[in-house]
Amino acid sequence: MSKDKDKDKGAQFDAIVIGSGITGGWAAKELTEKGLKVLVLERGAKIEHQTGYIHEFTPPWQAPNGGLPERELHARDYEIQSKIERGAFSWANRHYWINDRENPYEQVKPFRWHRANVLGGRSLTWGRQSYRWGNDDFLANARDGHGNDWPIRYADLAPWYSHVERFIGVSGQPEGLEHFPDGEYLPPMEMTALERALKERIEARWKERRVTIGRVANLTVEHNGRGACQNRNICNRGCSFGAYFSSLSSTLPAAQKTGRLTVRTDSVVEAIDVDPKTKRATGVRVIDAKSGEKMTFKARVIFLCASTYGTLQVLLQSRSEANPNGIGNHSDKLGRYLVDHHGVAAFGEIKGFEDRNYKGRRATGILIPRFRNLGRQDEDADFTRGYGFQGGAMRDDWTNTAALTDDFGAGMKHNIARPGKWVAFLGAFGEQLPQVNNRVTLNDKKPGNYGLPQLCFDVAYGENERKMAVDAGKQAEQMLKAAGAERVQLIPVRTMPGVSIHEMGGARMGHDPAESVLNAHNQVHGVDNLFVTDGAAMASAGTVNPSLTYMALTARAVDYAVAQIKAGRI
Ligand SMILES: Cc1cc2nc3c(=O)[nH]c(=O)nc-3n(C[C@H](O)[C@H](O)[C@H](O)COP(=O)(O)OP(=O)(O)OC[C@H]3O[C@@H](n4cnc5c(N)ncnc54)[C@H](O)[C@@H]3O)c2cc1C
Ligand code: SF4
Repeated sequence: MSKDKDKDKGAQFDAIVIGSGITGGWAAKELTEKGLKVLVLERGAKIEHQTGYIHEFTPPWQAPNGGLPERELHARDYEIQSKIERGAFSWANRHYWINDRENPYEQVKPFRWHRANVLGGRSLTWGRQSYRWGNDDFLANARDGHGNDWPIRYADLAPWYSHVERFIGVSGQPEGLEHFPDGEYLPPMEMTALERALKERIEARWKERRVTIGRVANLTVEHNGRGACQNRNICNRGCSFGAYFSSLSSTLPAAQKTGRLTVRTDSVVEAIDVDPKTKRATGVRVIDAKSGEKMTFKARVIFLCASTYGTLQVLLQSRSEANPNGIGNHSDKLGRYLVDHHGVAAFGEIKGFEDRNYKGRRATGILIPRFRNLGRQDEDADFTRGYGFQGGAMRDDWTNTAALTDDFGAGMKHNIARPGKWVAFLGAFGEQLPQVNNRVTLNDKKPGNYGLPQLCFDVAYGENERKMAVDAGKQAEQMLKAAGAERVQLIPVRTMPGVSIHEMGGARMGHDPAESVLNAHNQVHGVDNLFVTDGAAMASAGTVNPSLTYMALTARAVDYAVAQIKAGRI
């Protein structure tokens, strides 16, 4: 078959969803459940729930290469992915991550682009922390003038947060705080003894600071036909119990159940065609990753859910006479105002709990919601906006004790058989300000995989981020010391753009088409049947993890799109 033959796959689908990760899975579920025939296009390979998690049950002593990093392979093929923080890339899940050598990108300034390009995307590898944004988050841009005003408020999203939480299952503790809205929770996971003490001591000293258990999309009880969490904390290998939310365990099976879902993997979307006369998106151009064959699929409505940078890449690549700089780029806003989280972390040892321990490996930590510059500028703050902390307190295990002991024989055995010291840590997630020059573009002179231009990142943290990180470090240190910590150490984390993996912006929502790419319903200004519902839509970064918000935005946008179809408007 000719590689260049542009095969037109006709209009056998009502809707096309590009990407099968957290947002694509949600779009597929909602669209099919509302009666539409849906095609999901996924650039990565097929992975089956359960059988695809090849190392889920491999014990460490049977790990390939003894579980040690395969340095040559990583340097050659996973130069970026293998550097991801918090052990998210390992021998157990390497097959989920993209091959960096085959998929290069340009870095004007150092930037980490972490991609899991398989069916299910990063829903397989995410940390599952699931928080609602509060009204302050949606008002921030309007209040201080950085970035454009969000076209929606918390009230617009609240019912959709509930809709999503009820389906995915989020365990957590309601707290009754206005700026940190509660959701619909399964029973919370338990705090460790030291975390309970941290809570008591921090809340006693600072009334406006709350310490709560992480709200996490891990099931503490059976839910929607999925099993309860076994407290193994090896979630990013995949979970056969379906005990954490992923597209493979949850949304795609729900879509499949309707009988209206078709999934095409190994399908790299190159571009979306727009008819210059009708201004409608007419088709999606695809390159088959295995054969190189080119083809076009058509549908009445398109949901672009390829993850923030994947989506921006597709929009920028969708160049035509009518849209010479890509779709939605009439006012040069596409690719700009990228935001993420930056931060710093603090560790300390706390004595006095040596008689206490815990069972299992809990798959979440604790969280302290934002307390700086809330609703007004704090007098002692030399920065705009704020940050929240995520952290935890647990005992060192035998591996650390073994590494530190200078004993041997029976003495060593005795030492490592006992639990180690208690260590508490707090890591800040700071809000990056939207800046016009933090952007991605295409470099046509540098071809990447499939002959498509490389995406070029020109992103840096600014002075506000630097000052905020200094303050966050100081506060973390004070809180740990107030809780009795000794030998507190500050360590730099999230100092390089990309490492936080909460990438947002580039096709921001807004009322004014001259200032934004999407409207209040995630519809591309000027292309009514094209919706973007992943992180690219975000107009600011907030201080908590964003994926629950993407899911709520996706479900809300589908509801709107289907109503528009029924009304004959798109
Ligand atoms: C280690 C780690 C921990 C994280 N922890 C959290 C957390 O605790 N809480 C939280 O809220 N978020 C967390 N995140 C972020 C979260 O994973 C993302 O926000 C979320 O997955 C984004 O969903 P998405 O659908 O936009 O993209 P993804 O889930 O990445 O899915 C995008 C899909 O689109 C496909 N695709 C891309 N380009 C194309 C193309 N051209 N054609 C066809 N298909 C394409 C990709 O292959 C992929 O499958 C974490 C991420 C990582 C990596
Ligand atoms: S900790 Fe829970 S959700 Fe994670 S892999 Fe184990 S059972 Fe699954």
